[in-house]
Amino acid sequence: MLSQRVQTLSESLTIAITTLAGELKAQGKDVLSFSAGEPDFDTPQVIKDEAIKAINDGFTRYTAVPGFPDLLEAIAGKLKRDNGLEYETSDIVASNGAKHSLFNLFQVTLDRGDEVIIPAPYWVTYPELVKYSGGVAVIVETDDKTNFKITPTQLKEAITPKTRMLVLTTPSNPTGAFYSKEEIEALAEVLKGTEILVASDEMYEKLLYDGKIFTAVASVSEDMFQRTITINGLSKSVAMTGWRFGYVATPNKTLTKAMKKLQSQSTSNISSITQKASIAGLDGRADADVRTMKIEFEKRRDLAVKLCNEIDGLSVVKPDGAFYLFINIKDVEPDSMKFCKDLLEKKGVAVVPGLGFGSDGYFRFSFATSEKNIIEGLKRVAELVSEYQK
Ligand code: PMP
Ligand code: GLU
Repeated sequence: MLSQRVQTLSESLTIAITTLAGELKAQGKDVLSFSAGEPDFDTPQVIKDEAIKAINDGFTRYTAVPGFPDLLEAIAGKLKRDNGLEYETSDIVASNGAKHSLFNLFQVTLDRGDEVIIPAPYWVTYPELVKYSGGVAVIVETDDKTNFKITPTQLKEAITPKTRMLVLTTPSNPTGAFYSKEEIEALAEVLKGTEILVASDEMYEKLLYDGKIFTAVASVSEDMFQRTITINGLSKSVAMTGWRFGYVATPNKTLTKAMKKLQSQSTSNISSITQKASIAGLDGRADADVRTMKIEFEKRRDLAVKLCNEIDGLSVVKPDGAFYLFINIKDVEPDSMKFCKDLLEKKGVAVVPGLGFGSDGYFRFSFATSEKNIIEGLKRVAELVSEYQK
């Protein structure tokens, strides 16, 4: 009854665990969830006001498939101002979240057997969407010794005649690692002379700590600009997860044309109201709110790293960005599914097993929650660890 494609697709583990934690809480269970990949802040008022205005002004009809002109100009403006990238408005397609942008991208680029290089740990969705689109996910394992970053040598070794694309995530979900300009340049050197595309997922761009400077992957050279599809959105940086807004930008007209065609037959334009509201998230009006959220996340990161390092048997690389710790449990229980199941059942703490991100022996702990929750959550983690050690 079901297509073979969908039968081999796995459900998103991050969403599944967050949903389960919510259900347990609704049943009155004492559950603390560190599984959600979303800020706990409210969307900035300036963005909400634009949405309300859009409704009252009757901006409630279909728009052009990739977005209405003012939105596309606001995205192009953001990419120029923040990242030094010069895209034309026709190079941009807005979709229902960056997840939808990735879906469109893989659907229009991959044929059966085409290979996509994905460094692990990866965000759960990439390999599944690649597979669903007929491609083959070629996983390149990294670990805490290289701060979870793919090296030029690893990239070179993973390339075959079938390689169509490389996926980079900077800063990374689930590790928070980010690629410096020099590191991107070194990877770019390996790609020179090939026809390999780069899907650069920059969703956590604004959440980079310790004064670190973000480099957009497409910005390091003209060669990289031509081969890169920049993917971004406002879910994480401006706390807009529920609004469903993401976009791709690429000078490759064949690709943008194909994505617009696919979207014209699937979802058409994204919500007209979200489009109007998103402009305020792109043009600088929400920058003060973004700064406030970032300062808060940085404080929580420092607290969570400190508490985690106090737990004998666990180790963690301090993340440069995003809002996750990717905690090494190899000396306690290398089976991350078992550890996370025990943590939920015995201690009422929901986190995501590293296995879902392609790296067993770790779990992901989101610090996009209050300090009080972080303290209590890591106290319970410490209790479980000491029970394992008895
Ligand atoms: N990329 C990364 C790395 C993510 O963590 C997420 C999380 N939702 C997304 C893309 C998709 O975000 P959205 O669809 O909400 O724009
Ligand atoms: N990206 C977030 C996460 O990693 C949200 C859930 C999802 O879309 O996977 O938890």
